Amino acid sequence: MIEVEQLTKTYGKLKAVDHISLCAKPYEITVLLGPNGAGKSTTIKSITNLLKYEGTIRICGHANDSIEAKRSFGYIPETPMLYDLLTVKEHIDFISHAYNCKDNQQITEEYLNLFELKEKLKTPAKELSKGMKQKLSMLLALIIEPKALLVDEPMVGLDPYSIEATLHLLEKLKKQGVAILISTHIIDVINEIWDEAYIMNKGQIIKHVFKSECETETLKNLFFEVTGE
Ligand code: ATP
Repeated sequence: MIEVEQLTKTYGKLKAVDHISLCAKPYEITVLLGPNGAGKSTTIKSITNLLKYEGTIRICGHANDSIEAKRSFGYIPETPMLYDLLTVKEHIDFISHAYNCKDNQQITEEYLNLFELKEKLKTPAKELSKGMKQKLSMLLALIIEPKALLVDEPMVGLDPYSIEATLHLLEKLKKQGVAILISTHIIDVINEIWDEAYIMNKGQIIKHVFKSECETETLKNLFFEVTGE
């Protein structure tokens, strides 16, 4: 479970996020939507504790700056954060050691096959294509077998096959009980698999909706209705 209470983040005089509260539950895909500059990435980065903020954030019941919280969540950033000179295998070894999950060979193998990175094990990150970097970033977040997953724009740079594979993967993780929070602009793609959505604008949550409440309305239509764009 990812719990955010009264999160506020200011950059100088700008309130990028203004007293927002939200919750992403296990066995669910929760979507964070909003126009450019609404505050989605700021919210996700605050949850991962990459930013200083005001408010309370808990991951799997632990304060987000605790070791217990850090062990339990995976983060797939908008722009992959990789080490240029480390190979794919070295990235995997580094994360496996850092998270003390050296028994993860089987799951690592599965993700290497799924993301078609097996041939690239000896390739340094700087020589990977944009899509491959995104896939490596996903793999690194997933080989720790997270209980909560934070994903910022997961489909950017992926080819249509990889988008399908990612959607299936997200559904599988949801069924396994992972609490998933996704920020995305690609609403059509997410329409089949979301459970709960928060629509942000100008730093505030302007709509909180459950899929069960809008059987006939698509998330995209709802987005245009409430943001007025
Ligand atoms: P997008 O859909 O374009 O990715 P977003 O909803 O993720 O947008 P944020 O990146 O969270 O939006 O930005 C929210 C607001 O905070 C914007 O007005 C942005 O200009 C501002 N902002 C973000 N990062 C910084 C920063 N490092 N310094 C100053 N202002 C920032």
